Amino acid sequence: MRIGAHVDSTDPLAEAAARSADTVQFFLSDPQGWKAPKPREDAERLRTAEVDLYVHAPYVINVATLNNRIRIPSRKLLLGHANAATAIGAKGLIVHGGHVNAGDDLAVGFDNWRKTFAYAADSGGFGVPVLIENTAGGDNACARRLDALARLWDAIGDYEVGFCLDTCHAYAGGEDLLGLVDRVKAITGRIDLVHANNSKGAFNSGQDRHDNLGGGTIDPELVVAVIRAAGAPVVVETPGGVEGQTADIGFLRQQLGTASPAA
Ligand SMILES: [Zn+2]
Repeated sequence: MRIGAHVDSTDPLAEAAARSADTVQFFLSDPQGWKAPKPREDAERLRTAEVDLYVHAPYVINVATLNNRIRIPSRKLLLGHANAATAIGAKGLIVHGGHVNAGDDLAVGFDNWRKTFAYAADSGGFGVPVLIENTAGGDNACARRLDALARLWDAIGDYEVGFCLDTCHAYAGGEDLLGLVDRVKAITGRIDLVHANNSKGAFNSGQDRHDNLGGGTIDPELVVAVIRAAGAPVVVETPGGVEGQTADIGFLRQQLGTASPAA
C-alpha cells in the first residue's frame, strides 16, 4: 500500500525522501489564488520518479456555484491544473466538491458539475483522473454528506470521475467513519485516494481542522479501518512538518503491516 503526505511543492521528491514516503501530494500554484500553474522545470524528473504524485487543485475552485464570476474561472483553472498535472505524470488531481450559496438550488450545483465534465470533454478531456474530495463544512455542499454525494454522482457518474475520501472531513462533516467506505462505494463504486487525517473539530462540527493521527477527536483505529476497507493509496495532510508527518506515516505502516520503501 502506498502511503505519503501533502508536502511543499518546491522539491516534492526531496520531501518524499525526508518522510520515507512513496507518495506525495502538492499544489501547483497558490491554493488561495487564481493564477494558472506554470510549467515545472523538474517535470521530466517528476514524471520518471518512483514516487507516486498527486496534485491538489486550489481551494478557490468551486465549479458548482451559480455565481458565474467564480464558476467560469473555476472550470478554466481546473482544466489548467489537469494539463499541468498530466505534464508531471500525476496519478490524480484532487478537487473539493464545492457548494452553492445559501438560498440557491443544489440541483443546479450538481448540474454545474456535469457541465464541467462536458466542458472538459469538449477540450479533449482532463488527461488525468479527477478525484472529487468530500468536504467538512457548509449547508449547501455537494460532497459533505452522502445524500448529496449520491445526487452528485447521479449527475456526473457517466464521466470518468474518481473519489478522494478525507477522514477528517467525513467525521467533522457528520458521517460516521464506521462502515463509511462501503456506503461511499455503494454510491461512487470506487475510492481512489484516502486523505488520512485526524480532526481537531468534534463530530459534525463542520470544521476543516486537520490533526495528527494520534491527536484529535477521531479514534485512530477508525482511520486505519477506513484505509484497510478502501484499499487505496493514502496521503496524510497533517501538521508538524517532516517530523509530524513521518510519525503519522510510520504509525499507519505499523498498523497496516506494510514496509517502508527501500532507502
Ligand atoms: Zn483532504
